[in-house]
Amino acid sequence: MKVAVWYGDKNIVLEDRPIPSIGEKDVLVRVKSSSICGADLHAYKGLSKRRKPPLVMGHEFSGMVERLGDETKGLKVGDRVVVEPIISCGKCKACKKGKTNVCENRKLIGLNLDGAFAEYVSVPYEKCHELPRDLSFDEGAIIEPLAVAVHAVNITPISSNDNVLIIGSGVIGLLITQLLRSRTSGDILVTGRRDYLLEKAREFGATDAINVIDCDAVKTLLKKHGRVDVVFEAVGSNETVNQSISLVESGGSITLVGMLDREMTVDMMEVVAREITLRGDYGYTTDDFKEAIELASSGKVDLKGLITHVLPLDEIKKGFDILAERRENVIKVVINP
Ligand SMILES: [Zn+2]
Ligand SMILES: [Zn+2]
Repeated sequence: MKVAVWYGDKNIVLEDRPIPSIGEKDVLVRVKSSSICGADLHAYKGLSKRRKPPLVMGHEFSGMVERLGDETKGLKVGDRVVVEPIISCGKCKACKKGKTNVCENRKLIGLNLDGAFAEYVSVPYEKCHELPRDLSFDEGAIIEPLAVAVHAVNITPISSNDNVLIIGSGVIGLLITQLLRSRTSGDILVTGRRDYLLEKAREFGATDAINVIDCDAVKTLLKKHGRVDVVFEAVGSNETVNQSISLVESGGSITLVGMLDREMTVDMMEVVAREITLRGDYGYTTDDFKEAIELASSGKVDLKGLITHVLPLDEIKKGFDILAERRENVIKVVINP
């Protein structure tokens, strides 16, 4: 089978490998669509500490069941599936509390295990969810980032008239924007650095979307809208975390979705004395993943509007380069192996 192997930096090579063998509880999935994630791009740019070459990346994907292990249940050859790529142990304290997203022994397909920039992937059968008929394989490949957004919103208390700010107009920021439409009648504000993405944010329900590339984000927001009740920080830089603290109301909360800077300097006096809640956020549970499928299938969330490029596996390097250089108003690149 054809596989795209990442050898570090911008070196992605197409290779021929044997089709993976499967265990008794595994399913061989023929990948139909696999999306390039910001985290994959980060590795491609040589900035990732978590992804170690050589690696087959790709954790956002859908496909068809090609072969089944003897102990799998509820699936048959030819089924359309979307794969939940976080594999948790089910035994640790976090798993026992239902927080499988922060399982101590978790593995991610495309990070610790070979991923979906390949024609076939072997996955545990429990991680295969039916892809509803009304969703295309390409939309199926965007379910995973939608699950990330669903989880972030689910763990964040939001009242029906709260004003909310989303810092970052990338894919996750845009998905959170869509989800908030049904959660609050208050302001849904988005800040970002690219006009075409902010335009999308407006299309998806932002009541205001502000380009902060040439201005002081805090001053601009305070002047125009004042402080907000809830912030979703979807960048992860020290600068934007500090913006979140400055822009949230006393007693308000900040959900930290982005991951960029490991160490930060923040004004903890502000956090303590204004009773601001800083909330960590990671991945999603199986329930969040199922909710994401349901939301996409019922048309409450538009995934198609995020897909700007569809390329064959042979052109995966081009896909990464388009994203790295932010060409052609790119949002999501999906690969069809
Ligand atoms: Zn991802
Ligand atoms: Zn666990």
